[in-house]
Amino acid sequence: MSLHLPEGEAAMSPQHNADIDPRNTGSKAVGTLLSALAFLPWLAYWFITDMDEPAGIAIALAISCALLAQQVWTASYRFFDAGAFLYFLAAAIVTYALDSSILVTEAGPIGFAALLAIALLSLVMHRPFSADAARNEYPRAYWRNPAFTTLHTIITSAWAFVFLVCGIVLASSALPAADALPMGLLLAGFIFSFVFQIMGPAFLVTQRYRPFEWHVPLTPTSSHQQDEFDVAIIGAGIGGLTSAALLAKRGYKVLVLEQQSQPGGYCRSLERGDFAFSSGVSGMTGLWDNGPVRRVLQQLGISPDGRFTPHSVRYVHKGQSIDTGCDLQSLADSLADAFPGESAHVDAFFQDASAAFFQLHEYSSRFDTPLPDHLVVRLMGDKAAAHLPRIYPNLFDWMGKTLQQKLDEHLENNELKTIVSAVSGQNGTRPEATTGLRALIGCMGPQLTGLHYPSGGPGAFAEAMAHAVESHGGTIMYNYRADRILTDRRRVRGVRSGAEIFQAHVVVSNANARTCVLQLVEASEAGGPYIDFIKSLAMSRSAFIVYAGIDGDLSSYPSLIQNMDGDFTILINSNADPRLAPRGQSSLTLIAPIGYRDFPPRDERDYDDRKRQFAALLLRKAEEVIPGLTEHVAVLDAATPRTLESYTAMPEGALYGFDQSTGSRRPHFRAPIKGLYFAGASTFPGAGVESVVMSGMICANDIAGWGRDNGRA
Ligand SMILES: Cc1cc2nc3c(=O)[nH]c(=O)nc-3n(C[C@H](O)[C@H](O)[C@H](O)COP(=O)(O)OP(=O)(O)OC[C@H]3O[C@@H](n4cnc5c(N)ncnc54)[C@H](O)[C@@H]3O)c2cc1C
Repeated sequence: MSLHLPEGEAAMSPQHNADIDPRNTGSKAVGTLLSALAFLPWLAYWFITDMDEPAGIAIALAISCALLAQQVWTASYRFFDAGAFLYFLAAAIVTYALDSSILVTEAGPIGFAALLAIALLSLVMHRPFSADAARNEYPRAYWRNPAFTTLHTIITSAWAFVFLVCGIVLASSALPAADALPMGLLLAGFIFSFVFQIMGPAFLVTQRYRPFEWHVPLTPTSSHQQDEFDVAIIGAGIGGLTSAALLAKRGYKVLVLEQQSQPGGYCRSLERGDFAFSSGVSGMTGLWDNGPVRRVLQQLGISPDGRFTPHSVRYVHKGQSIDTGCDLQSLADSLADAFPGESAHVDAFFQDASAAFFQLHEYSSRFDTPLPDHLVVRLMGDKAAAHLPRIYPNLFDWMGKTLQQKLDEHLENNELKTIVSAVSGQNGTRPEATTGLRALIGCMGPQLTGLHYPSGGPGAFAEAMAHAVESHGGTIMYNYRADRILTDRRRVRGVRSGAEIFQAHVVVSNANARTCVLQLVEASEAGGPYIDFIKSLAMSRSAFIVYAGIDGDLSSYPSLIQNMDGDFTILINSNADPRLAPRGQSSLTLIAPIGYRDFPPRDERDYDDRKRQFAALLLRKAEEVIPGLTEHVAVLDAATPRTLESYTAMPEGALYGFDQSTGSRRPHFRAPIKGLYFAGASTFPGAGVESVVMSGMICANDIAGWGRDNGRA
């Protein structure tokens, strides 16, 4: 099978990007025209019956029949037109067959009551009538998107209000200007519909983020005192290091405080005896030609060449093994071999996913990373939020659905769906709870653009990022725990670590937002509602991890084994980088997701026993995939959820920070305290090394004011 996917590179050429710039895209007026036409029968009805002419009903019925005819032909009727047709049909029966003139003499109030009923019914049925006409302006994929529905629920509600007021005005003919007012209100309704369709999406987003709209003017090296910095960053995890390095490169005076003695946070390596292990990160994404990680490395002058090794991957499901390489073609071929009847479906699924994935990176390619909706509006203009869904239909289709829905759309075999979604474990969510955004970044990203192991282990990648901070003039202070973020009237002033105070105009928390807001910030400064919001956020699951040095050669195995039968991952570090174990031996990291409360606190007596038992159990499970493993264990260590928590100060040792399931929320990258930012897994776009790199880029760019050159030298 040969996959024909949109070329990421070609699709993202500067020329193409200029063409799809939403500011160049004119608004289509088809929907507005259709909305106006839909009122034609009503206007005929009111004007003609106003002259005591029952013919107004017959003419209105004829016009609404004409409007409806084409819709019946295409089996896509519009709620408003269908309602009008039924009303005029009933009016004709009452007037001509029952010989009653009530719908002629009371055409105004009864007509508006009917319109109000149509509007309310469409709202109750979650099919706001204004959306019907607007659908002509948007791709089908966007019609069910929650943002589209919300917008039209507001517009239709506004129309319902207009109909109600018009009906009341006409019913009380004693009111002055009783005839002119309804016409004026209808006109206002049209203008509101038209303007709100274009500006409404931006307005709704802006309202949501109003508490975070502060501005700290900051020019590079505006701080000259020894302990005064432009930006202080709490935490040398990858999100913190990314923003630190980018800001340092732009000339800002940057300080990073890290409580541990080495950089990387969750993305680090550890050594036991002659073996080196990844502490948990098994694979990295975002390294394709326009990938965010590659772009950051290039901006920092770090050559990605030779730094990453493509993984070979084995999926084990129901005792069957499917081996694939790092590229999509080999994955698609392996899946087609295992599920021959679904070959075309697999092709279609990846075509769809690929289009959405590249659109995700294309709409914001000027900024090197996808953006949260608030920044889309701020940086790309108010109209962007309304126009982007037209230009990127696949992306907005995915954004409105779960991974499971997309799998169900294309694939039939449930086992195939399980294998394709195996990587969604990277999000810590089940496919039915994996949002479209997380599906694209965390699940489809590795499949479409490859999963890589950092040469030398994840710690080597973190070291390279830390080196970039320092080589551009930034300072990293290890073994420094930030104890307090200093604020004054909801504006940051600096950071206190022990007895030392570091003044800073801006503070970036790479520590989890819960740790930051509940432990590092004065409660009265954060504010009750924000604290309640942070407390309401659930954490994602944690993990039990085994580090095993094996006195045996495992190089015949792939470097990464996803065992879906036992819900654990085997990372053979030394297969990705042979330097991580002595010749003929192997370095293994076994990761099994578990709940934080599945393990006792460290100070409980049976903590060490439980740790040993869990490690032995996980090794035995791994033996089902790699026979004879337990007999060759030369070095053994393990990490529990409590280890992860104490190492990074991540509440509950959560692998992915806050829960990433559908319906969950993540804090905005700005706190409601002037000058306080978040960078890392706490905020958009979520957890994973590539995602926290993106968040670090967003944070640095925002601090630097999104300069025209986007920070490039
Ligand atoms: C077991 C495991 C497996 C994973 N596998 C993958 C994978 O295969 N691929 C992938 O992309 N992602 C994976 N992830 C997720 C990924 O590692 C994280 O999402 C990412 O590294 C988090 O980066 P961060 O920038 O949010 O910072 P973190 O890694 O959370 O680091 C935060 C840093 O802040 C420091 N800090 C906290 N509080 C303070 C304080 N008060 N003062 C000073 N310093 C402080 C901590 O010491 C730490 O260094 C995995 C995570 C785990 C735990």
